Amino acid sequence: MIRTRFAPSPTGPLHMGGVRTALYAYLFAKQHNGQFVLRIEDTDQNRYVPGAEEYIIEALNWCGIIPDEGVSFGGKYEPYRQSERKHKGFYMDYAKRLLDSGNAYYAFDSAEDLDIARKNAESAGQHGWQYDAFTRMNLRNSLSLAEQETKHLLDQDTSYVIRLKVQPGQTLTFTDMVRGEVSFDSALVDDKVLIKADGMPTYHLAHIVDDIMMEITHAIRGEEWLPSAPAHILIYQSLGIPMPQYAHLPLLLKPEGNGKLSKRDGDRLGFPVFPLQWKDPITGEISSGYREKGYYADSFINMLALLGWNPGTEQEVFSLDELVKTFSFDRVHKAGARFDPDKAKWFNEQRLRHTDDAILGEHFYHQLKNILGADHPLATLFYATGAVKLLKERVQFENEFYEMGKYLFEAPTSYDDKVISKRWNDAAKVFLKNLPEALSSVSEFNAELTKAAFEKLAIDQGIKPGDVLQLFRVIMSGQGSGVDLFGMVALFGKHEVFERINRFQSAY
Ligand code: GLU
Repeated sequence: MIRTRFAPSPTGPLHMGGVRTALYAYLFAKQHNGQFVLRIEDTDQNRYVPGAEEYIIEALNWCGIIPDEGVSFGGKYEPYRQSERKHKGFYMDYAKRLLDSGNAYYAFDSAEDLDIARKNAESAGQHGWQYDAFTRMNLRNSLSLAEQETKHLLDQDTSYVIRLKVQPGQTLTFTDMVRGEVSFDSALVDDKVLIKADGMPTYHLAHIVDDIMMEITHAIRGEEWLPSAPAHILIYQSLGIPMPQYAHLPLLLKPEGNGKLSKRDGDRLGFPVFPLQWKDPITGEISSGYREKGYYADSFINMLALLGWNPGTEQEVFSLDELVKTFSFDRVHKAGARFDPDKAKWFNEQRLRHTDDAILGEHFYHQLKNILGADHPLATLFYATGAVKLLKERVQFENEFYEMGKYLFEAPTSYDDKVISKRWNDAAKVFLKNLPEALSSVSEFNAELTKAAFEKLAIDQGIKPGDVLQLFRVIMSGQGSGVDLFGMVALFGKHEVFERINRFQSAY
């Protein structure tokens, strides 16, 4: 059984890169009829942000990336929150195993001791000082101190951390699902802290213990963890437990392509980097979200899926089910994926165009009741659906319908001067005077017949229909361009069309 997990830390709103990690883990699990788990990694108490966990859950729900198990979803490996798992003693159990087998040790150095050691090394011209096989014997730990002294320090409740004992001289290799075979020299790996002075595990130990206990088969995470992978290989080796398959996903890059995509890029260029709006609990600052901007969750997911993964065909628009069928790690890029905010909108536009008019009409009808008031004569399902048909090809978001088609709801109060000065001549005046009668003669007031009547009148009067078309558009809507003209005429109906003609005639 394939089991993947998404393991965010509740340190703030989920970045869209995090959503992509969750998505890939979800797609892979579902493709193999496996399970997808949500684990909350909240062992860093200094970085804990209230509301972040709820935000993560709401964001996954909105996206349709629904965990089979995890915080707020339950499951047989409960609890799924690391702070609670710590109280069960799981992490200390594994740390003890590593201590007992000689693969970990106690270290008593204070932050100041370590600072001094680092500074001394720097003044001796050594850079990149770290706690490792080359330095540990000069520091205060259970390897450098006599056994009784260690015992004494522990008995006295001296503050300590537990560190991984890394042996130099090994080549550490694993096969990454994205990068293929990756190797590291163990001499470059530091003796990572496994248990901190406050008794909390670090990420390095905690995620491994949990991945083992939760029977995770594939650990899918961001590329920023790749440098820590050799330490993780060593922990698994020391425990004598096989590693899950790891996949390290490429970074999301700024639209300019240089550097990691950050919230500041969003603020600068006007796009959200978070799935949902977020209000900072301390500063009160609001950050925009894709949901609130009017994106469909499906389009957001579709866009994210293609940021770093190439489906290998021309197809770009995918439903979540199609992504489950098509996704594969072979086609995830190694290089970072440049985020394109216009392309993000394009995905929404595509989905909108492929949504049934009846559904869009229903949505727009609800908007209209709010905008115009429920008793407004145009706040009807019929009118909303008619408007949507005309506006559908002109918007990228459903929340743009009203602004884009305002003239469908309000008669114009001014008219495009350029068109008027060019087209409002004596022939046009006669034409407009005769137009109501010509339009009245149609058997049904629809786009096709009104257009034919309009053209016939022009020809009968010896003018080219093209000479009066744009003028008529301005008379109907105030502006020189917009939705299909006779579609608009049909939507208005005879009464409104004549009203708008009268209105224009009394102004000019
Ligand atoms: N808690 C880690 C993070 O938020 C998770 C990394 C992982 O998936 O293993 O980056």
